[in-house]
Amino acid sequence: MPVGQHAAARPPQHLADLGPAERRAEAERLGHQRFRADQLSRHYFARLTDDPAAMTDVPAAARGALAEALLPRLLTAERELSCDGGQTRKTLWRATDGSYVESVLMRYPGRVTMCVSSQAGCGMACPFCATGQAGLTRNLSAAEIVAQVVAGARALAAGEVPGGPGRVSNVVFMGMGEPLANYSRVLSAVRRITDPVPDGLGVSRRAVTISTVGLVPAIGRLAAEGLPVRLAVSLHAPDDELRDELVPVNKRWKIAEVLDAAWAYAAASGRRVSVEYAMIRDVNDQAWRAEALARLLASHPVHVNLIPLNPTPGSRWTASDPGVAAEFTQRLERRGIPVTMRDTRGREIDGACGQLAAASRPS
Ligand code: SAH
Repeated sequence: MPVGQHAAARPPQHLADLGPAERRAEAERLGHQRFRADQLSRHYFARLTDDPAAMTDVPAAARGALAEALLPRLLTAERELSCDGGQTRKTLWRATDGSYVESVLMRYPGRVTMCVSSQAGCGMACPFCATGQAGLTRNLSAAEIVAQVVAGARALAAGEVPGGPGRVSNVVFMGMGEPLANYSRVLSAVRRITDPVPDGLGVSRRAVTISTVGLVPAIGRLAAEGLPVRLAVSLHAPDDELRDELVPVNKRWKIAEVLDAAWAYAAASGRRVSVEYAMIRDVNDQAWRAEALARLLASHPVHVNLIPLNPTPGSRWTASDPGVAAEFTQRLERRGIPVTMRDTRGREIDGACGQLAAASRPS
């Protein structure tokens, strides 16, 4: 049954929804000693296990109850697909209410990036994005977001990903959903992902990227958090007329406001902002748009990621001609703007940018 037909229900509470002090208070409330929360955190974030049988430092009589209350299973892997010799793996997850989300692990020489979902579906309705077509089912909880990273970390630690045992080094909120539309849970997840082991997973805060359509007030709020996470802005057009169509929330917050918020974020965080630009043939890839984009971005702390459009089923759009994309790149470079062409890892398994569309798959 498609996800839209489920009544979306709130997932059970999990220790990864809570900060360290809240976990201890919760253990106490449940009638256990406070330090049990720290033991469970160590099992989950350091040993990457939620199996009560493995928790031999917790009295056998208390294990089951504690694990049930603080480490409920939130996501069940429904399907696993891999390509690139196993170095790209997409997982389709079923949540406790039957919602589906996807995450993608990408191993490169020297780093492993987990691309995670922040919502089941998405309410932003970008017409070129597979997730945007399905609409929003619900926000994920912080623990459901963290669980995607823990699963990747577990697979790496167990040596299941070719290249030997490894760790998650980067986390990008570029899966399903608009992270800044699920602000508090995403922030809580970022803290769990980046808090030092065993309170969290110990990923560097600088190695976390939050990608947004440009929700201006939330960008301002994020700037005030004082977290050095990277902000990525999905621009896709240098002019409001076209962006109104490609990123409909642009009707609410125009390009100038979004970029002002982005530059303020860069100043507050000390990090360059990434600008994402999906190259869509004859739609946004003209020379004049490259020049217009260059004018908007010149002299700002920015890095442009050009992404060849991954056409979604039934899409009226396709990727830019490689020669046209190369010329677009050169025009930006000539204006001194750092630019890279994003690879299309995971394309064969529908795991590439914008292709995550678990909601439309039959269960
Ligand atoms: N909602 C957030 C994060 C999700 S998607 C955001 O919009 O930024 C991560 C990136 O993939 C965004 O830049 C998004 O615009 C882009 N994207 C979506 N669909 C795509 C597609 N079909 N081809 C290429 N990039 C796509």
